Amino acid sequence: MKFDKGRLFLSKKAFAEITEPDRQRVILTGLGASIVIAVCLFFIILELSLGHLDFIPFYGVMIVFSMVCMILLRKGKLDVAKIVFIVPVLLMIAILASIEKQATGGYLYFLAAGVYIVTIFGYEKIKYSVIFFLFTVFLAFVSYFYTIEPFQPLVLSQRYIDTSYVLNFTVSLFSSLLAIYFLMRLNIKSNEHLIKTSKELKESESKFQLAIQGSSAGIWEWDGKGDRIHVSSKITQLFGYKVGELSDLTLQGMLNILHPEDLTEAKKMLLDHFKYRTPFAVECRARTKKGNYIWVLDTGQAEWDSTGRAVRMVGTILNIDERKRAEGQIKKQNELLEKANQELDRFVYSTSHDLKAPLSSVQGLISIAELTQDPEERQKIFGLMKGRISNLNAFIADITNYSRNSRLGITIEKVNLLDLVTDVLQDLEHFENRNRVEIETIIPEELEIDTDKNRLKVILSNLVNNAIKYHNYDSNNPKIEIKASQKGDACIIEILDNGLGIASEHHQHLFDMFYRATEKSDGSGLGLYIVKETVDKLSGSITLNSEVGAGSAFTLSLPKLNPSNYTAA
Ligand code: ADP
Repeated sequence: MKFDKGRLFLSKKAFAEITEPDRQRVILTGLGASIVIAVCLFFIILELSLGHLDFIPFYGVMIVFSMVCMILLRKGKLDVAKIVFIVPVLLMIAILASIEKQATGGYLYFLAAGVYIVTIFGYEKIKYSVIFFLFTVFLAFVSYFYTIEPFQPLVLSQRYIDTSYVLNFTVSLFSSLLAIYFLMRLNIKSNEHLIKTSKELKESESKFQLAIQGSSAGIWEWDGKGDRIHVSSKITQLFGYKVGELSDLTLQGMLNILHPEDLTEAKKMLLDHFKYRTPFAVECRARTKKGNYIWVLDTGQAEWDSTGRAVRMVGTILNIDERKRAEGQIKKQNELLEKANQELDRFVYSTSHDLKAPLSSVQGLISIAELTQDPEERQKIFGLMKGRISNLNAFIADITNYSRNSRLGITIEKVNLLDLVTDVLQDLEHFENRNRVEIETIIPEELEIDTDKNRLKVILSNLVNNAIKYHNYDSNNPKIEIKASQKGDACIIEILDNGLGIASEHHQHLFDMFYRATEKSDGSGLGLYIVKETVDKLSGSITLNSEVGAGSAFTLSLPKLNPSNYTAA
């Protein structure tokens, strides 16, 4: 792996965080600090050998500052490191120039320092460059014209002056050249960096474009300052608009096209993203130009200014309509399956009981009949057996109706309601107590409904059957009314009786499977459950109004069914 010189003076973390031009400046600052340490060490040795001990503490201080500078560089605190290095160096040069005046060539360091300052701060930190450059010029003048107290000019030996001059000249020249070399290198590196970055940018842009074209996502961008949203052509197409039609969209305008039921959540997510920077991704329905809604996945990422205000946001919109609808379908089917499972459990339990009970009863009655020789007694037992068997028969009919309703498809035809009710009443002619109740039908002769005839017959048979079964035969005028009328597109059918009535606590369970509201019932408790299921199948509704002692009113509302929505079984 190629070793980068920047890593000499920077920690791994700091190296990764800063850009290439800054790395070059760090190398220069680090090299400068290293040179100062080397020169100071040289002078300490030189002065010790000559017996001059006065300046050794200053060299020591310079070494300490240079080392602090290097530590700060490693931590990535570049500006502070440069200042910690440059200020003591300038002061040191000023003192040196002041006490040795021009003889040793100490001024030459100001020149080197000037070039060096401009290089390490650069144009990006022009303020620092100018301030420290002016400070250098200021110190050069002060040290030239004045004596900096308490540093009095020294009387130096010619040998010292000569040696110092050669050294100062060489070091300052070398430092200036180093700074100029870095300035040029910086320029080349910056250019290389720029070329590399723009190449990478182009590559990533074309990859991004490819990815966007390949996906079904559209891009949107919100400019917080002007509150304008720019949407890509894919989004425009998705919502059924022509190019340019969605050009003046605001954030509120975008929210306005969301479905009212999804708006609150989407708004909350967006505000939370702006405020708490939580991820923004919301599945919601959005209105198309035609006015219908489609499911989309809207995601985005904002950008905040220094005050924490969201100033820009970029996001995508993905069409997830098909997936959402399929999910909805699966959810519905799951609910139906769950319901069917629960019902099956209860069904198995109750049917085994309801099938067994009359059979055991008939078995018992046969045993009794075998023991008796009395024809009258036997006749009575046969009558009881008949009753049990007809119960069993009714129960099996209920189960068959239930099964037919859930399995068979819907067959729609024009049904004349008066004809159908007449048919139902004819079937019930021999039903127990039928003759003890008056049945009045108030149905316009021409009233017709597009529906499934067999299913409607099952509904009406069950309701009329119950009205006869649960009538109050102690009352003066046992009566049942069957009314029907057209209301808009729906057909309203009412079955009213002045019979026993149903206590209100039973109302909400009355349409449940195997629910009986009275002990007197010898039925299966399936009748009204089948009614409700069948009404649902016909996309209708049923309501109950009943009071104990006053009677019951079942009201059906059945819509006109469109054959194109149903497939015949
Ligand atoms: P079943 O008649 O087999 O018991 P249904 O599901 O047909 O079962 O009816 C459920 C219960 O609702 C019945 O047990 C009965 O108590 C009550 N019920 C139904 N229709 C009437 C009605 N017209 N008047 C009074 N009670 C009724």
